[in-house]
Amino acid sequence: MEPDKKPGMNRRTFIKAGLAGTATALIAPPVFADALQQMAGAGPAAFPKPVYRTLGRTGLKLTVVSFGAMLTPEPEVIRVAIEQGVNYIDTARKYMGGKNEEIVAQAVKGMRDKVFIATKTLADSKTKADIIRDVEVSLKALGTDHIDVIQLHNVTGKERIFIAETREALTLLKKQGKVRFCGVTTHKNEAEVLNALVDDPDRFFDTCLVKLNFKAEKDVIAAIDRAAKAGIGIIAMKTQAGGYETAALGRVSPHQAALKWALQNPNVTAAIPGMKDMSQLKEDIAVMGMSFSYADTRRLDRYADAIAPFYCTFCGSCENGCPKGVDISTVNRSLMYAEGGYRDLTLARATYEELPLHANAALCTSCEECSARCINGLDIAAKMERARGVLA
Ligand code: SF4
Ligand code: SF4
Repeated sequence: MEPDKKPGMNRRTFIKAGLAGTATALIAPPVFADALQQMAGAGPAAFPKPVYRTLGRTGLKLTVVSFGAMLTPEPEVIRVAIEQGVNYIDTARKYMGGKNEEIVAQAVKGMRDKVFIATKTLADSKTKADIIRDVEVSLKALGTDHIDVIQLHNVTGKERIFIAETREALTLLKKQGKVRFCGVTTHKNEAEVLNALVDDPDRFFDTCLVKLNFKAEKDVIAAIDRAAKAGIGIIAMKTQAGGYETAALGRVSPHQAALKWALQNPNVTAAIPGMKDMSQLKEDIAVMGMSFSYADTRRLDRYADAIAPFYCTFCGSCENGCPKGVDISTVNRSLMYAEGGYRDLTLARATYEELPLHANAALCTSCEECSARCINGLDIAAKMERARGVLA
């Protein structure tokens, strides 16, 4: 899909087509037809007019609510989103052990020109051969001849941004037309990573997919502002702070409020909430065009209080206090994938297994008293014990 091209079929046309039994409905596989019925039966409020923002210097115009595919087991959910105008799909080589890209491939079949696809190399890929291999495998799994945005996955410091072989590979892949733009993803030391993208004399990377939610620290928000002003396209992830379910708000979901909070920042082009099913899709895409309100502030305050006993911001500031060198923030992130709104034990274990043996929770067994202190008051030793039980 070209940078300035937007999806063609609007919401009303789509509903009409779905209900009237046109070719779209006739050729749709049964599950897709069910999904259409669900969406159509949900009433007009479920179909907002798409809202677009420009992804920094790439010029790509993305829907502000775009699609995080990491948890989506059914391509039909993604297909419905695309038909509703959502035009950016984010996946990764790692998700579902590589299967997630295949799900995206099924979803975009026949509609590749309506969407931009972003995927990620493996976190430990650094050499020229590694990066080229990852991209070639992704191209095949995605069933496409190009990736719109290729991202270095899980960058936790500035070093990886400057690896010469990585850049050499990406430059070659761009020349070959296999990738269009390059970015990084980060959910730890985000400010350092964002500032390094700006301070890079070559300004090599075009985009940053960054953890951003209502618990964000000021330095991260300032770094996002600086990067956006320098032309780096900013996409927000983990906007729902773990997506935990809580009874604290009664029947009111905090998740729309959390999404609106991220999107009220004009430096953010889009957010990519993970959407597993039709109800999550409807809840999230309805946010397009809504503004952040005082009521949303109150909801987020209550949600923040509810998750305070267990939500880790992955700031890493406790880690120097651990004599064993446990990577506490990554262990906690793995635990969040298992126990938060993700409920994805496979992703949780895959993330945990990426940790070197000298940094995982198994080391955390022999301290009489935990000397790692959490700035948010979490009981770190208890979290590590829980991680051993759930993930090891
Ligand atoms: S109890 Fe665990 S996390 Fe705390 S200091 Fe000891 S090894 Fe580190
Ligand atoms: S446990 Fe606390 S200090 Fe450590 S990374 Fe998480 S939020 Fe930060």
